[in-house]
Amino acid sequence: MAYFKKVLIANRGEIARRIIRTCHRIGIKTVAVYSEADAESLHVSEATEAVCIGPSQAKKSYLNMEKVIQAAKETNADAIHPGYGFLSENPEFVRRCEEENIVFIGPSAETIRLMGSKLESRIQMQKAGVPVVPGTDQSIDSIEEAIKIADDLGYPLMLKASAGGGGIGMQLVQNEDELIKVFDTTRQTASSYFNDGTVFLEKWISEPRHIEVQVIADAHGNVLHLYERECSIQRRNQKVIEESPSPFLDEELRQRLLEAAVRGVKQIGYRNVGTMEFIFNEQKDFYFLEMNTRLQVEHPVTEEITGLDLVELQLKIAAKEAIPFKQEEITKAGHAIECRLYAEDPVTFFPSPGVITTMELPEEARYDFGFQSGSKVTPFYDPMIGKIIVHGLNRDHAIEKMRKTLEGMNVQGIKTNQPLLVKIMKNDQFIGGDYTTQFLTQNQGTLLKN
Ligand code: ADP
Ligand code: ADP
Ligand code: MG
Repeated sequence: MAYFKKVLIANRGEIARRIIRTCHRIGIKTVAVYSEADAESLHVSEATEAVCIGPSQAKKSYLNMEKVIQAAKETNADAIHPGYGFLSENPEFVRRCEEENIVFIGPSAETIRLMGSKLESRIQMQKAGVPVVPGTDQSIDSIEEAIKIADDLGYPLMLKASAGGGGIGMQLVQNEDELIKVFDTTRQTASSYFNDGTVFLEKWISEPRHIEVQVIADAHGNVLHLYERECSIQRRNQKVIEESPSPFLDEELRQRLLEAAVRGVKQIGYRNVGTMEFIFNEQKDFYFLEMNTRLQVEHPVTEEITGLDLVELQLKIAAKEAIPFKQEEITKAGHAIECRLYAEDPVTFFPSPGVITTMELPEEARYDFGFQSGSKVTPFYDPMIGKIIVHGLNRDHAIEKMRKTLEGMNVQGIKTNQPLLVKIMKNDQFIGGDYTTQFLTQNQGTLLKN
């Protein structure tokens, strides 16, 4: 069963290649779209067909809805897979697909609108009895209002863009002076990045862990979970290393988390794979952070422990088929770790675009990469080169495999965070599994120096 005849992938880099791989395996033709900067990219040569949709700036190409729709019509694609980022969480794009009778591989426009707003989603989750981070459920429109609410909640607080993503549009504020200082700029950042200046306040959780639940829901009301992912190794509130299972959870806590995630998803009438993100405090209380209504960057760790292909499941669900298994039939085995390899300085995190002159990758790992030897990393998009994924019998085994893989890798021509990733794999605190989102900051002295 191929679900669709031809799928257009409205994305680039590693995720476009990942989607092409599954489509071709199950006999679906693919259409790549690309910007002028990406004409030589691997996703372009690997797809069945490719259409140039405009200049290098994302706004003029990958974010240009009409260009993408036009490419789908010209090539007779019957569905569009949005990947992550770009148009993947844009309700207007979903509506345009519907108008043109093209299947959008994802949830409805209304669900995306609801969950794309961190404020709206907080309200929905509370209705479902899912705990949310203590904070406000209304948009804060003036600094006077912000000061008043902040006094009620108590500092430290996180000032957050409701439409934010990728760690952008959030600011820790320790006191009133800091709040006054960042209020307007945070709102401006939110409107320029996300076209929506809505901000709200949340309690800042110190020493938190970010643990998320992979969910899957079909058009027939079935909602299942595919266990959790631990994503606390972050820089600038963005994930660098993810693993599953989380070394932080015992079985009882895991079950409570998974149940809360499924309950929340049932509340919103969801259809697609999706991620419910939670934050844990030191007392092991957990709170809903946000939901991502798309394939997640770190989905491979879930695929490795469950043996499932999440892209194939997305296609099946978009074709209105039921999930072909029950919750109790999903098993997990071993331990998986993913490292994001970035074209950036391993100490300052500054992007380092350029030509990759050499790329040698040891066998025995899964590489979801957008680039190869000779590829050019341009400054126009996310600097992620790709993801290294290993699967071990247990956590120690997986760490050992990852360390060996990273040490055996040879990527030249640009700076990458490979040296940082190696240091993390050798770090006792990481190996012990007792780390929080503050891990890199706390270990600056040993990890973030040349
Ligand atoms: P994940 O939670 O899967 O790690 P991220 O939030 O880091 O996802 O974002 C994945 C990709 O999508 C990144 O390239 C990020 O820059 C981009 N992204 C996320 N949210 C948005 C958004 N609202 N608008 C534009 N790009 C976004
Ligand atoms: P985004 O949409 O950018 O992914 P999230 O709300 O998912 O935003 O938060 C991203 C990361 O920022 C979290 O994984 C966590 O490290 C940090 N963070 C977010 N909210 C809080 C909070 N209230 N307290 C402490 N850290 C937070
Ligand atoms: Mg998030």
